[in-house]
Amino acid sequence: MEIEVKNQTDDEITFIIRDAEVPFVNAIRRIAMMEVPKMAIEDVYMVQNDSAMFDEVLAHRLGLTPLVSDLDAVDGLVMPDNCDCGDHCPKCSVSLTLNKSGPGVIYSKDLVSSDSKIKPVYDTIPLLKLKEGQNVELEAIAQLGIGKDHAKWVPTTVCAYKQYPEITFNDDLNIDYACVEACPKKILKANKKKGKIEVTDIESCTLCKACERACEKQLVKDENGNEFSKKYINLGYQENNFIFKIETDGSMPPKEVLLKACDVLSNKADEFITFSKGGS
Ligand code: SF4
Ligand SMILES: [Zn+2]
Repeated sequence: MEIEVKNQTDDEITFIIRDAEVPFVNAIRRIAMMEVPKMAIEDVYMVQNDSAMFDEVLAHRLGLTPLVSDLDAVDGLVMPDNCDCGDHCPKCSVSLTLNKSGPGVIYSKDLVSSDSKIKPVYDTIPLLKLKEGQNVELEAIAQLGIGKDHAKWVPTTVCAYKQYPEITFNDDLNIDYACVEACPKKILKANKKKGKIEVTDIESCTLCKACERACEKQLVKDENGNEFSKKYINLGYQENNFIFKIETDGSMPPKEVLLKACDVLSNKADEFITFSKGGS
C-alpha cells in the first residue's frame, strides 16, 4: 500500500491511497469519525442564568463548542471510563468557567479554562446574549470522549473517500462534445483542433456520470456483425486506489486524526488476534 499526500492545511488533508481494499479504507473512515478521542464539555453546573436561553440549550451549545484536543493538549489525560475517580478529577477532566454580566453577547473566548492548552478552538462562537442587569455564571467540565457516544466528540467535519476515477474514450466512435458542457466540475476540455477531448483534472471528478448521460448512443458492430450501441465516453474507477479527504473542526490536525485512527484499528486487530488464539 502506498500513500501520497496531495495537499495539507491546518484543518484539511487530501491524500491518495494506492493498492488498498474497500473494507480497510472504510474502516479507517469510520474509526476517524467515531473512535478518535477528543475533548468536549460533558457536564455543566449552572450557578446563575438570567438570559432568555434555557439552561439545557446553553449546555448543548457549550457541548458543541470545539475545544483544542491535539496530542500536546490532551497529553496525560485519560478517558473517564479508565479513571478510578468515579466522577471527574484533574486526571480525566478540565474545568472551564463562565462568569459574565450583560449587556452584550457572550462568546466562546469568555470561557476561562483551568488548563491553558484546553480551550475553545475559536474565540468568536456566540454562546448567548445578556441584557442589562442579566448575569451568567457556570462551571463546565470537559472530558475526552468518542463520536460513537455523542456527535460533540466527532473530530471530523468531512471524512470521505472515493475510488480513483478513470475516464476513457471510445476512439472508434464519432467524437461527442456534449459531455464537455455537461460536466459540472468543468474538467473536460474540447480540443477541436486535435479532434479530441482532454481531461484536465481527473481527481476532481465526482463520478456523477453527467457526461456519460449527455452523450448519444452510437451503433457499432462486433466482429460477428452483430449491432450494439455504446457511448463515446466511459466512466469508471480504479478498484484499489482511493482519494481520501479529512477535514476537522479545528480541535486537532487532520494528520493526527488519521494516525490515531490507524492506531485504533491496529489495536482492534491485535485484540482480534489474541481472541482468536484463545485469549480474552
Ligand atoms: S463523472 Fe461527472 S465530474 Fe466526472 S467527468 Fe463526468 S460529468 Fe465530470
Ligand atoms: Zn478522574
